[in-house]
Amino acid sequence: MEMYSGQIGKLIEELAALPGIGNKSAQRLAFHLINMPKDKVDRLAHVMMEAREGVRYCKECFTLTDRDVCPVCANAARNHKLIMVVENTRDLAAYEKTGKYEGVYHVLHGAISPMLGIGPGDIKLKELIARLEGDVDEVIIATNSSLEGETTAMYISKLIKPTGIKVTIIASGVPVGGDLEYIDEVTLLRALEGRIEL
Ligand code: ZN
Repeated sequence: MEMYSGQIGKLIEELAALPGIGNKSAQRLAFHLINMPKDKVDRLAHVMMEAREGVRYCKECFTLTDRDVCPVCANAARNHKLIMVVENTRDLAAYEKTGKYEGVYHVLHGAISPMLGIGPGDIKLKELIARLEGDVDEVIIATNSSLEGETTAMYISKLIKPTGIKVTIIASGVPVGGDLEYIDEVTLLRALEGRIEL
C-alpha cells in the first residue's frame, strides 16, 4: 500500500482485514471515512467501541445482546417450550425478520467441524442440553445445510432423542451450502413449516 501515506495505508489495511471487505472496498471505505465530518467519524468509532464492550451472551439463548436476557427470551408472549437451534445470531435475525416464529432460540456460535478442529465442546451444546432439563416440547434444528451444519444437526438429534423431547429439522427448501441469513423469508418460512421429525 505504498501509494498512500502511512495513515491512509494503515486504515485501508485494517478495513481490508474485516470479513467480506476486499482491497477495493477497503480503499473506498477509507476515503469515505476521511471525507466524512469529524463528528460522524467520532460517533461511528464510539458505537463500535460501545458495542464491543457492552455486547454479551443472553443468559438463556446465548445470542448476542446488550442485556442480561435478550428481547426474545424476555418476551413472555413467546413460546418458551419451543426452541430453535441456530448456528449464529445472524441466523436468529433471519428468522426474526419473518415475524412468524413464536418460539425462542438457542444460538450455538458455530458448528461441529472435524476439518477445522471444532468439536462439540467448542460450541454452546452443553448449554442447550442444560436448557432441556426445563419444560421443553420441541427442539427445531435449523443449522445451515453445509456439511458442518448437517454434522451438527445429527449430533444434536442423537443427544436429544433419549430425553423423549420431540426433535425436528427444518425442511431442505434451504439450498445446499446456503447460509440461512441470505435466504429470503418465504423460503425460511416454508422450511420451518415443512420441518420433519427426526
Ligand atoms: Zn435470549
